Amino acid sequence: MIHEYDVVVIGGGIAGLYTALTASENAKVAVISKVHVTRSHSVAAQGGIAASLGNEEEDHWEWHMYDTVKGSDFLADQHAVEVLAQEAPNAIYTLEHMGVPFSRNAQGKIEQRRFGGHTRNFGEAPIKRACYASDRTGRAIMDTLYDRCLQKGVVFHNEVFIQHLLFALNSCCGAAGYDLATTEPQVFHAKAVVLATGGCGKIYKTTSNGFASTGDGFALALDALLSLEDMEFVQFHPTGIYGLGILISEAARAEGGVLRNGLGERFMERYAPTLKDLAPRDIVSRAVLNEIGEGKGVEGKDYVYLDLRELGRERLNQKLPEITSLIKTYLGIDPSETQVPVAPTCHYMMGGIPTDAEGHVLADKSGTVLPGLYAAGECACVSVHGANRLGCNSLIDLVVFGRRTGLSIFNEIKARLVHPLPVQAESLVLDKINSLLESHGTERTAGLREALQCLMTEECSVFRNGKTLEDALGQVHQLKKRLLNVGLTNKSRVFNYELQEALELGNMLRVAEVIVYSALQRQESRGAHFRSDYPQRNDEEWLKHTFVNETPTGLKETYKPVAAGRFAPEKRRY
Ligand SMILES: Cc1cc2nc3c(=O)[nH]c(=O)nc-3n(C[C@H](O)[C@H](O)[C@H](O)COP(=O)(O)OP(=O)(O)OC[C@H]3O[C@@H](n4cnc5c(N)ncnc54)[C@H](O)[C@@H]3O)c2cc1C
Repeated sequence: MIHEYDVVVIGGGIAGLYTALTASENAKVAVISKVHVTRSHSVAAQGGIAASLGNEEEDHWEWHMYDTVKGSDFLADQHAVEVLAQEAPNAIYTLEHMGVPFSRNAQGKIEQRRFGGHTRNFGEAPIKRACYASDRTGRAIMDTLYDRCLQKGVVFHNEVFIQHLLFALNSCCGAAGYDLATTEPQVFHAKAVVLATGGCGKIYKTTSNGFASTGDGFALALDALLSLEDMEFVQFHPTGIYGLGILISEAARAEGGVLRNGLGERFMERYAPTLKDLAPRDIVSRAVLNEIGEGKGVEGKDYVYLDLRELGRERLNQKLPEITSLIKTYLGIDPSETQVPVAPTCHYMMGGIPTDAEGHVLADKSGTVLPGLYAAGECACVSVHGANRLGCNSLIDLVVFGRRTGLSIFNEIKARLVHPLPVQAESLVLDKINSLLESHGTERTAGLREALQCLMTEECSVFRNGKTLEDALGQVHQLKKRLLNVGLTNKSRVFNYELQEALELGNMLRVAEVIVYSALQRQESRGAHFRSDYPQRNDEEWLKHTFVNETPTGLKETYKPVAAGRFAPEKRRY
């Protein structure tokens, strides 16, 4: 089936919905999502969205900018961070006017709380900068944007899985995939295509990410011969529920929770004397694993405690109802009485598809724009997060750059030509599906996926080194070979999740290969990328972005200098 639109947005998280809403002012827009839109991972965002409103104490966008640049370990492009920090307050007011039910303080203003790495006066002390709707901030924003999109006539194609981007005359002119319910090919013809497909936390065994975060958008970009930028920087959040990875938001520490090792010590005081438990995530995650490595995990095991008892039942229910309920459901304990076992969990991809600050996808490191293709949200790399993202800076990134991407389309769409669809669009989709359904291969998707997840967790997580990365790269190649021999036990064409998972695994393996490869090349430690064989940051050689693309002979890397700005690199002390 062929669908005609002006704009097709692949992904219905906050980035996709915001882009769609903005572009819908003068274009016919469709949003495509492999899960029902309102189940996109953005709904799981808990703690908040950062903006220097100054509702609780003095704040300035320049302070927000400084914290973001320092948090990024000076790898972020400062012109992009400037846009983010400067536009953040208005972005929040716009959300408020749309109807997002933010929590309020006693003056009736949007309430704000502390969050990791956000400080007053260039690093002096933690500041209250995170706006929030209880601990269901993502849900509140998603529901509001979804309603607005429906009002504007945005069309939703739920449970459609996109497998290909379509190009004509070097311009993106659509996308193709299939309907998960029927396996029928679905071809979307458009003047502009937006990638808003989120992250790929599912390539790790322990992750806070939802099942849909399999990096499909990254693979679509690789297919289009584009590079992925800075993929070695994978964020691990320090407080996932032990053994499950389910997130306990930093808001828990912002509200007064503290981390304790097996000896009951508040160990973050030793690692970050000023910000303590509210230091950036890369630093806290390494600290947790250091404690565990020194045998100071709880009962010598590989977890520590998050102690929320000080907060008391009433405050927990008022400020953190969602995570209190998650803890009760999954651990059967009451956090007002019992400490919560936690360990780092894979959380966020700092890198992604290179874009400019207007959402255009860049075809190369010199900044050539690929006509017709845009990207926003976690799958994009603008780059505002550099080597480590601060908490609450993703949601504001989605809103600020989602809007800017929508505005670019708004301004450019009328002048864009309609390019014809490539004739083989439907057969591209069907051939792949049929070959999987008809394959007699003996490998099974679930086994291969688990092997990948264990491999990435063991050899390419918080700590890495040349030896483990070399090994991981070899093993990813092996897994890619084994995937060629995959067969499905379920041959149905109705909601065949085994088929979908096989396609997703192909994407996950390609993204994992880029992550490991990028990490292997970068011989320094910066932000979330810590090489135990190169433990120092090396600005002389490595103040540059990694670009990796697929070639017929394997992956190739090039580098692009970081755009300098008002803040010169300094040592990160917290
Ligand atoms: C548990 C959790 C809590 C978080 N809390 C916060 C927080 O408090 N503050 C903060 O700033 N950040 C937070 N983050 C990070 C932030 O929520 C995410 O980075 C962000 O929501 C990603 O949004 P997105 O719009 O880019 O993509 P997502 O919301 O991940 O949506 C991706 C969309 O793409 C679609 N899609 C993907 N592949 C395909 C395909 N092949 N075909 C069709 N559709 C496809 C999916 O169906 C989905 O609609 C949190 C993350 C997690 C996991």
